[in-house]
Amino acid sequence: MADRSKGMCRFCGKEYTKSGMVKHISSCKYRQAWLEQKGNEKQSGYFSIAVGGTYCKEYWLLLEVREDATLADVDEFLREIWLECCGHLSAFLIDGVYYDVEPMESWGRLRKTMNCRLRSVLDVGMRFAHEYDFGSTTELTLTVFDYRVGDRHKDKIVIIARNNPIRVLCDECGKRPAAVVCIADGEVLCEHCMEEHECGDMLASLTNSPRSGVCGYEGSEKYPDVLERITEQK
Ligand SMILES: [Zn+2]
Ligand SMILES: [Zn+2]
Ligand SMILES: [Zn+2]
Ligand SMILES: [Zn+2]
Repeated sequence: MADRSKGMCRFCGKEYTKSGMVKHISSCKYRQAWLEQKGNEKQSGYFSIAVGGTYCKEYWLLLEVREDATLADVDEFLREIWLECCGHLSAFLIDGVYYDVEPMESWGRLRKTMNCRLRSVLDVGMRFAHEYDFGSTTELTLTVFDYRVGDRHKDKIVIIARNNPIRVLCDECGKRPAAVVCIADGEVLCEHCMEEHECGDMLASLTNSPRSGVCGYEGSEKYPDVLERITEQK
């Protein structure tokens, strides 16, 4: 149901669910054309990574990340598109090891730094986790579903696909689309019903993110909810 949310392939414009997109992307001929157009002699390895809310599976991203990017680069990207509200701590959990922004000791075990390159910690088929804010935590699950070597691109991280904005109806009237979420009770409300909601100024805008309605999250300034296509239709 909820995890059946669709998104657009940024190369050909077709819509799929997350698992459908994972299958589609290796055979998308527009993506293939995009990969080949650069003609750069320098080569790089790239990981294809699927990211989704661990509990809010309707929010998902498919990314292509250069293998020399660091976990800190991925953390920064996830904060910018989905997570950042007030500078909370975050960590990756890979193979039982925590990677922190500032490594700290926990239960007598040293955690590691995020300043390590993906190629030294990731492999195809691996599943790992990201946690943002150790109080009201937003948990993400990441899966490495492919690796390829090809022309080196300028960007360390490219968004291949992202779920379309989730459309839900107002909990109060059940008729109009919800625009805000109440942080106190989790109710989603339309612009009409929010005026009469009793919790006052506990309302946050409904955003295309698994952190929607948590803490002071208000959406991303850098990444609009709907992304443009990378390639033009021929
Ligand atoms: Zn496609
Ligand atoms: Zn916060
Ligand atoms: Zn309403
Ligand atoms: Zn409320």
